[in-house]
Amino acid sequence: LRMELNHVERLGLVGQMAASITHEIRNPMAVVRGFLQLMREKSPASLEHYYRIVMEELDRANGIINDFLSLAQNRVVKMELYRLHEIISELTPLLWADANLRGQSIEVRLDENAPLLMLNHKEIKQLILNLGRNAMEAMGEKGKLTLEMKLQPDGVELYVTDTGPGIPTAQKERLFEPFFTTKSKGTGLGLSLCLSIMERHGGRINVESEEGLGTTFIVFFPFVSERIEA
Ligand code: ADP
Ligand code: MG
Repeated sequence: LRMELNHVERLGLVGQMAASITHEIRNPMAVVRGFLQLMREKSPASLEHYYRIVMEELDRANGIINDFLSLAQNRVVKMELYRLHEIISELTPLLWADANLRGQSIEVRLDENAPLLMLNHKEIKQLILNLGRNAMEAMGEKGKLTLEMKLQPDGVELYVTDTGPGIPTAQKERLFEPFFTTKSKGTGLGLSLCLSIMERHGGRINVESEEGLGTTFIVFFPFVSERIEA
């Protein structure tokens, strides 16, 4: 009888547990949300403010559960050939609308000739949204978010740059830890999810930041290798 589980088996177990626990939590939450909606319709307008807060907090908790699930499952995702610039283009209107509401601007510099990459479309969308939202949350009005693709000999780099306050050196090492956050309403799961997404893609994610000047997250996607490893 083997008492020790290997890394993959252990991950599988944690993933299964996470899936069933989150399922059990999500169900009662959905019921609570449904009844809240009904109560809201029958309640005096003076209570509207409270209902809004309760609903928002419920949705926030749901978001945390979803992020946690993706993190804990570390599942094997389906990789397909995509052009990175096409995924970024799909997200640009979303990011632009968000920035617009905050009085910020966006610049996107795509390389449409970059080779195809092996990606999970849904995960890379999530990664770009997480980095984009973090950048916008860090900047004040008049801030500028830049997304830029750079072709390298061995892959494609994506630079997500903001003109925010930057990240203190002491915090830099902790950014990618699950639940590390400096925001009152943050989950601290965004960057740890980005890191696990890039690990699954065989890529990298790094940060360069200068206090007072801004921050750049650099994401590296390796080219599809033709070489077959023995
Ligand atoms: P959350 O956004 O919920 O706080 P994240 O994992 O996305 O969690 O980010 C963790 C922390 O990293 C943030 O709370 C913030 O302190 C820091 N951070 C992330 N992106 C930036 C950025 N672009 N500029 C400054 N700080 C950042
Ligand atoms: Mg975040």
